[in-house]
Amino acid sequence: MNDTEVLQIFRETQALLEGHFLLRSGLHSRQYFQCALVLQYPRYAEQLCAALAAKLPKADAVISPAMGGLFVGHEVGRALGLKHIFAEKNAAGKLELRRNFVVGPGERFLVVEDVVTRGGRVQETMEIVRQRGGNVVAVGMLVDRSGGQVGFGVPLRSLLQLNIETFEPATCPMCREGKPVVKPGS
Ligand SMILES: [Zn+2]
Repeated sequence: MNDTEVLQIFRETQALLEGHFLLRSGLHSRQYFQCALVLQYPRYAEQLCAALAAKLPKADAVISPAMGGLFVGHEVGRALGLKHIFAEKNAAGKLELRRNFVVGPGERFLVVEDVVTRGGRVQETMEIVRQRGGNVVAVGMLVDRSGGQVGFGVPLRSLLQLNIETFEPATCPMCREGKPVVKPGS
C-alpha cells in the first residue's frame, strides 16, 4: 500500500480534512487529522493495519496504549496471528497493565499505536514491557506525525508520515485571506 492509497482512504473517511483549523495548541493549520474516523470502518482498519503489519519484524505478541492504539493493535495482531494486549490510563493518568494481562520473560513485543507525535505513550508502554522482563523488538504506527523526530532505540515503522504545517494566528495565511477558522471535534 503506497502513500497515495493510504491518503485516499484517509480523505474518503474524512479522517484527513482540508480547510482552516484552530488546533488545541492555539495554532492554525490547513489540514486536520482524526485517526478514529478511519478506524470506525473495520474494513479499512483491517486493510491499513495489515499493510503496517507487513513492515514489522517477527515477534511473539502485540501491545498498544489505550484508547488510540487499541484498534490498531488488535488488527495488527489479527494480521500477524499474534495476541494483543493493552495498557490503559490509571487515575493518575499513567499507563498501566491491568486485567491480568501477562508479559512473559523474554517475550518479544511489538508496540503499536495509531498516531505518534511526541511518543510519550509509546515510551511508557515500552517501559511496561521491559519492567516485566519482556523485549520490545519494534514500534509500529499508522501515522508518524513527529516529522521524523521521534526515536525509541528500536526499529520504527509507520504506514505514513504526515507533516501538518501549523501557523501562529498572527502570521496565518488563511486568516490573511479572511477564511473562517473551524475548531474540529477533539
Ligand atoms: Zn488562521
